[in-house]
Amino acid sequence: MSQTAILQDMRSILDKAIQVPGDGHRQRMALTTIGYRANVAKTSPLEFLRSYFYEQFQAELANQPAVVAATDPAPITPASVETESIQCRSCGRTFKTQTALNGHGEARCQNRQTSPVTS
Ligand SMILES: [Zn+2]
Repeated sequence: MSQTAILQDMRSILDKAIQVPGDGHRQRMALTTIGYRANVAKTSPLEFLRSYFYEQFQAELANQPAVVAATDPAPITPASVETESIQCRSCGRTFKTQTALNGHGEARCQNRQTSPVTS
């Protein structure tokens, strides 16, 4: 039996044991078998377990983002929190966001009132 075949066998042992949550006896048997097989394959049982569960973890993560994104509320940005309290110091107009005030152009607004824009 090649090392690759043994490792494959070890994975299927874990697969079957994990499919029966709470079955402590079956899981102990699986771990014991994993220990023996790892010895035959000349590999470290804990490193094998770590890579096995890391793959499981990655697979679970890969299945979740769509669900998380669907249930996530819209992110609260500073723009949506601001009320109409941003005021142009030149003309007194209020704006919902700093971006809106920037678009209005506070500095240019003042120039418009005192002297024509000379650009
Ligand atoms: Zn203004």
